[in-house]
This record gives sequence, structure tokens and C-alpha cells, in this order.
Amino acid sequence: MPRKLDAIFFDIDDTLFSTSVFAEKARRNAVDAMISVGLRVSREECIKELKEVIHEFSSNYGHHFDKLINRLPKEASAGINPAIIVAAGVVAYHETKYRELKVYDDVYEVLKALAATPVVRGIISAGLTLKQAEKIVRLKIYEFLTPSAIFITDQIGISKPNPKLYEKCVSYLNLDPGNCIYVGDNPVNDIDPPNKVGMITVRNKRSGRFASVHGETQPDFEIRDFYDLREILRKEFAVPI
Ligand SMILES: [Mg+2]
Repeated sequence: MPRKLDAIFFDIDDTLFSTSVFAEKARRNAVDAMISVGLRVSREECIKELKEVIHEFSSNYGHHFDKLINRLPKEASAGINPAIIVAAGVVAYHETKYRELKVYDDVYEVLKALAATPVVRGIISAGLTLKQAEKIVRLKIYEFLTPSAIFITDQIGISKPNPKLYEKCVSYLNLDPGNCIYVGDNPVNDIDPPNKVGMITVRNKRSGRFASVHGETQPDFEIRDFYDLREILRKEFAVPI
């Protein structure tokens, strides 16, 4: 007997696209652009300092490049309007975003197929509202999602890894957590909490980012890509995709 499945919810970062690789490329391009308008510092030194800024002020902080210039030796930007250096970095960062922000091919294919089934396709994502919403739009997957099933922690007011987040999202849709899957890459944020509220969990091991992190509980399934997910949906839940 196949199990019943009402909904499948996805994490965004490093589940639907490679956040880590994308961020690395975007930062490199930003640093190169700042150097090209005259910033006198080596690429490696600049990247190292930028990583420290992001680590200290969080990735969602809005003034990474201003801080970066403050921290570099005075001579690095002497005689140049710092706003030009910052703008060069920001433009290069955004240009990378327009060019490179894409879901993995298998993610696109499987989401598209899922959209033709009655299974609810949702998002439960941790982060700033507009930033996460922008990713959904830019990744061109919105058309495959169920509009009422998109949840961002900043809007809900509860963040990962609080299990209440998952409970609330499922109850907003009047669904039974036992008939809902969550797919994510971080064992602590994406597997333990939905397990605690009785959801079915799928750990996406593709990025390898949390390879050495072990949660308190085990996922129900593990996948390397969304073709693995498709197999699980077909075999265990008889989803016609
Ligand atoms: Mg993630």
C-alpha cells in the first residue's frame, strides 16, 4: 500500500540551488570589480577580509562592502570616492545574481512534473522575507508552487530550528503533518524539527555542506538529487510523476 501524501515542502538554500557556490562566485566578481575601479589590494586579501565581514555581520547585513573598505588599509582606497568602489562591488554582485541564480536541472524537471499532480508544493525557508521571495521569483519556480504554501520565517515570526515553525505551516493549510514531506539539507534545521512534529523527512545530501553535521534523529529518506526524490515519490507514495 502506498503512503498518503498531501504536500511536499522544500528548503531553498543548498536544496533547490547551490547557495554556497553562487555566493562564492558573486563575491569574487564583486571583489574583482572593486579592484578594477582602483582599489589597491590583492584579490585574495580582499576576499579573505570580505568573508570575515560576512561572518561577523551575517550574510543578511546590507553594508558588507562599506565595512570591507573601512577595514582595509587607508592607502588601498586613497584618492578614490569609496562610494564608487562600493557601487562597483554591488553592481558586479547583482549582475552575477541575474546571470547565475538557477535551480539544478533535476530540481526544475521534478518540480515541473509535481505541479501536474494534486500534491501541494510548498516552501518553508529561513531568512529575510524579500530576499527569500526574490530567490523564488528569480529561480523561476514560482509557477510550480502552490501559492498559499510559501512560508518564510521572517513573516511567520518563528525560525528554524523551532519545530513550531513546521507545525504552524502545516496547520495553516489544514494538513496532517504525517502526510507531508519536508526536503532540506541541514540535519539540525531541516530534519530534526519536522521529525519532531511528525512530518516525513528527506535529507538532501547533494551540497555536502553539512556532511559532518549529525542531528538527533534520522531522516526517513536520503537523496543526492531530485531524481532520487522522484523515485521515492513514485515508489513509496505512488505519485504519478
Ligand atoms: Mg538549506
